[in-house]
Amino acid sequence: MIFKNKTALITGSTSGIGLAIANDFAAKGANLVINGLGSKAVLDSLCDQITKDHGVVCIHSNANMLVPEEIRNMIHEGYKHFGSIDLLVNNAGIQFVSPIEDFPEEQFNSIIAINLVSSFHTIKSVLPTMKSKGWGRIINIASAHALIASPFKSAYVAAKHGLVGLTKTVALEVATSGITCNAICPGYVWTPLVEKQIPETMKARNLTSQQVIDTVFLAAQPTRKFVLMEDVAALASYLASESASSITGSSISIDGGWTAH
Ligand code: NAD
Repeated sequence: MIFKNKTALITGSTSGIGLAIANDFAAKGANLVINGLGSKAVLDSLCDQITKDHGVVCIHSNANMLVPEEIRNMIHEGYKHFGSIDLLVNNAGIQFVSPIEDFPEEQFNSIIAINLVSSFHTIKSVLPTMKSKGWGRIINIASAHALIASPFKSAYVAAKHGLVGLTKTVALEVATSGITCNAICPGYVWTPLVEKQIPETMKARNLTSQQVIDTVFLAAQPTRKFVLMEDVAALASYLASESASSITGSSISIDGGWTAH
């Protein structure tokens, strides 16, 4: 129960990696603010399930990571309910696959806003209280695409590279305040975000769906297997633990060897 008496706010935690992190942190005693797009009924039932499984308090917010005001309100609600946010995981993210000449401007801007700029707003809002408590953990879910590029993912690659820059800068600014800030860089994890890329990638590369899985996704990973979302959650949990207090400003790969190429 290493996170007992701590509160975690995880953006984009109604699905995939974020939900796995929420469950992992709750299993270790953290109270939660979960977030994601979706109806009140869906968010209610996710929180109920987490409370039932782990006996922690869970509240939710459907704040849209595109809207700074909604992000600030979500953080405010977290403080109002729990008094502190000790663990912040910036995880919400979207993807769009297209050659840059055809890349819709609105999609490009949304990816930069959700995958990068929302983390600026969450971090800015939680730091004053983390600093006053002298303790905090900020974990940014970046990507292998924060370290290397692939064609047809200009917005995503730009946003994730930016997120690593933000991670390093924040780490330096809070290095003596008991707060760490790190990025996790997963390779392909089988989640709805990856599944949704299949039709777009089939079109951009003229491939079948199985060819996309074999020659685009898994070809990148020497292990030839998807990363498990539970393993990403376990890494986040370690970075949030006391033992990781000297790891800060780092970008940690969990990508089956992809970026070793
Ligand atoms: P997912 O699609 O399963 O989940 C995305 C979550 O973000 C959902 O909870 C969704 O509601 C939320 N979200 C999306 N847009 C939002 C918005 N505007 N406001 C609030 N919430 C919003 O995706 P995932 O695969 O679990 O990805 C989670 C993170 O991990 C993303 O940042 C993604 O870039 C990163 N990542 C994923 C993979 C992978 O292979 N799946 C690899 C590397 C990095």
